[in-house]
Amino acid sequence: MANQENSKNQGQILEKGLIMRSTGSWYEILDEQNKIRKGRLKGKLRLKGYRFTNPIAVGDYVDFELEDEDENTVAIVNIHERKNYIVRQSTRKKYHGHIISSNLDLAIVIATLAMPRTSLGFIDRFLVAAESSNVPAAIFFNKADLLDSEGIEFLEELCDLYESLGYQTLIISALEKQNLEEAKEMVKGKVSLVAGHSGVGKSTLLNALVPNLAIRTKEVSTFANKGVHTTTFAEMFEIMPETYLIDTPGIKELGIIGLDENEITFYFPELKALVQECKFNNCTHTHEPDCKVLEALEAGEIAPTRYHSYLSILEGYDNRR
Ligand code: GDP
Ligand code: ZN
Repeated sequence: MANQENSKNQGQILEKGLIMRSTGSWYEILDEQNKIRKGRLKGKLRLKGYRFTNPIAVGDYVDFELEDEDENTVAIVNIHERKNYIVRQSTRKKYHGHIISSNLDLAIVIATLAMPRTSLGFIDRFLVAAESSNVPAAIFFNKADLLDSEGIEFLEELCDLYESLGYQTLIISALEKQNLEEAKEMVKGKVSLVAGHSGVGKSTLLNALVPNLAIRTKEVSTFANKGVHTTTFAEMFEIMPETYLIDTPGIKELGIIGLDENEITFYFPELKALVQECKFNNCTHTHEPDCKVLEALEAGEIAPTRYHSYLSILEGYDNRR
């Protein structure tokens, strides 16, 4: 917004828009009249700090000007500052990040205890990625219809655990349309990223929530359901006024890149509260004496699964170096 008023380029007044999807070098931009414009980047917009493989991401607010009147294409000339963004490590270039999307109000991970069961480690890594990106997170446990009463009970305990840590949770069945009104209520007025392993029911959920959407759903096969997605670009859908969902096809894991070893604990709310009281300020909470985290674990105040996830992220960090 800042430079919208007085910036004119070749005599053309700039307009503001929201990036909804990208297909390589072209972007679909929702303008302020709710019209979709097709645009591309003009010149080179460089970003400071970390190196990204994509200069513009879904969720970015941009300024654009008309480029070609006949083709109705526009040129993006400015990117507004991002309030946050979520990255994943680039698959092509090591040490490069790819911005999945920006300006998020909520990051939702779709998980399930049914097939293909989501590991708690995966959920925790997602939550760490969200914490480190400064994005509030929620967990939707899908396929509740496939669980027996014991399964539901276990799920409710999990929900209690995560709610106590500050994450919203919801038990749903996308197929049977259970609790979808609650899901809508949770995302209302927000820009929410939706992620999850292949087969958890993300497409089914999006199809149920997005009017007129036809995302291909597929049968779960035990193996080899990787790489069957038709697109690997994030896409934004408006499901209600001012309410957007961002689908992240093919994205298996959000990046927990660039995290320092002793930074990890800060993204576990229950550890963050304790680490300052550990005897050593470089405590890794693995073996050190007078470690408050180990004491809390022993006392049953920290969930073992959460501690385990902490360890695996810590080790993963070491392995990557
Ligand atoms: P995606 O890979 O996460 O997009 O998963 P899909 O939406 O393609 O769903 C994978 C399979 O799970 C399909 O066979 C869906 O019908 C099924 N599925 C999705 N949601 C549910 C649910 O809530 N309950 C049950 N029983 N099956 C579901
Ligand atoms: Zn410690």
